[in-house]
Amino acid sequence: GHPVRLSVQVHPYAGNRRMLLTRDITALEQAEAMRRDFVANVSHEIRTPLTVLAGFVETLQNLPLDADERTRYLSLMGAQSHRMETLVNDLLTLSRLEGSAAPSGNQWVRMRALLAQCEDEGRGLSGRLTPQGHRLTFTSEAESELSGAATELQSAMSNLVSNAIRYTPGGGEVAVSWRVLPDGRGEYAVRDTGPGIAAEHIPRLTERFYRIDRSRSRETGGTGLGLAIVKHIAQRHGTELRIESTVGKGSRFALLFPATRVREARVMVTK
Ligand code: ADP
Repeated sequence: GHPVRLSVQVHPYAGNRRMLLTRDITALEQAEAMRRDFVANVSHEIRTPLTVLAGFVETLQNLPLDADERTRYLSLMGAQSHRMETLVNDLLTLSRLEGSAAPSGNQWVRMRALLAQCEDEGRGLSGRLTPQGHRLTFTSEAESELSGAATELQSAMSNLVSNAIRYTPGGGEVAVSWRVLPDGRGEYAVRDTGPGIAAEHIPRLTERFYRIDRSRSRETGGTGLGLAIVKHIAQRHGTELRIESTVGKGSRFALLFPATRVREARVMVTK
């Protein structure tokens, strides 16, 4: 975090005005420090793959390589370019989300469709990451529709599934569920049997570029921006991201949608 400068001098007659002013300046300084950190982080994240790419280009230019070696180098270069592309896409998504308070285009979206997409992506990712895969379950206790921006909702939900799979070793379990509570609120939850997260990290996970295990994040294609994106989408849809975790047992990430955004799915009757 950023140290809060405590330069407030409490003067008996200064009243609240001075206190407030000092606090505003501190907030401004903090915002400025965060912006600088962010720019430094982005630069670093882009420079790393760029340096690797430049190294490969040099090798290709200077070493007499056979066809197999060339192919290998080119595919490593492809992976680095892909990494930068993902990073830039996530940055653009984040900046778009930060630029407006409301979701773009409210509509009623079927939970069944959102879950099906999560399942497709999840199974694909799990298969690519580990030979034995994960035990994945997708359950829905209700046929519901959710009000919001379809692409944003999908992105938040898929992100949590992708994290659970990426951080849970092969053979582990990832359970994705949807249920409607008696008071009408809807809960989307992703539970995994991964490494778990120590309590001190939990409040910081949604910070941009905050990662516990940098190499695991990189190896599995992470940008460090996923949960920052989820947090923004959640806020725009009247919910917050809840994280519970036990080290050595696993984690649970949940989004609790307000009753006003949840309704029973309309059943289409065809004759
Ligand atoms: P990343 O691209 O690094 O995954 P995220 O913003 O999605 O970025 O997540 C931030 C960090 O939170 C990750 O680097 C990881 O350390 C931790 N994390 C996220 N999901 C899980 C999970 N299901 N189990 C354990 N750690 C997790």
